[in-house]
Amino acid sequence: MVIKIIYPLLHMNNFHTHTWRCKHATGTVKDYVDAAVKNKMKILGMSDHTPLPDNRWSHVRMDMSELDAYVEEFKEAKTEELILLKGLECEWDPIYENFYRDELLGERNFDFLVGSVHYIKNSGDWGYLSEIRTAKHLANYAEILITTMRTGLFSFIAHPDGFGAGYKEWDSNTEACSIDILTAAEELSIPLEINGYGLRKNKISTSEGDRSVYPLLKFWELASGFNITAICNSDAHRPEDISASIKESKEIADRFNIKLIDDIRI
Ligand SMILES: [Zn+2]
Ligand SMILES: [Zn+2]
Repeated sequence: MVIKIIYPLLHMNNFHTHTWRCKHATGTVKDYVDAAVKNKMKILGMSDHTPLPDNRWSHVRMDMSELDAYVEEFKEAKTEELILLKGLECEWDPIYENFYRDELLGERNFDFLVGSVHYIKNSGDWGYLSEIRTAKHLANYAEILITTMRTGLFSFIAHPDGFGAGYKEWDSNTEACSIDILTAAEELSIPLEINGYGLRKNKISTSEGDRSVYPLLKFWELASGFNITAICNSDAHRPEDISASIKESKEIADRFNIKLIDDIRI
């Protein structure tokens, strides 16, 4: 006899989404709202890559001159059918503190900011996550991620296990880096994201076989020993990915008994 298991229709929200403005995604805020309504989401958090006052890394984010238009999009996309939160995904550098605190969360009234590390400073120059190779690089990554958490500006930390994009093997170095991150997350009570986009990217081959860029199962297994919370997001770069991989991300949380949150409003 075949037993058919019918899963209840899980309602899921998503707080990590990008628009065409970042130059590597598609869709407007309104397109995402329509997709989220179709998927019966109750809360949609838009978090396109923030512009930076000096237009640093502008090849993967909107320019400062577009911020007004991004903000305007939220007025047009507002609907009774879900709660729409206005956010941005940010990289930490102390020179941006006033911009994040006073302009975005202050004057411009953003609902939330996501803390993210895509670049780390190795020997003076900024390098991308995929260039992480050594114990020192991992220590640099943990340091900037923990500093990001400590600012108190960010509602959650995106892909905290992003170092796996560069550092292929799991060893005592990745374990030490992960323990530092998890210890800080517990101390600061800041949610960590189980990022669905990493599940959709090309796999990375390691001596233990192929694995996702992130989430790293070993990271989340370690996380089960800490009193932390996690949030599952699709990190959609196309409206049609509005709920992509969220179910699989939740399965990782379940597997390691990680407490989940599904709302970032305090
Ligand atoms: Zn992106
Ligand atoms: Zn993102």
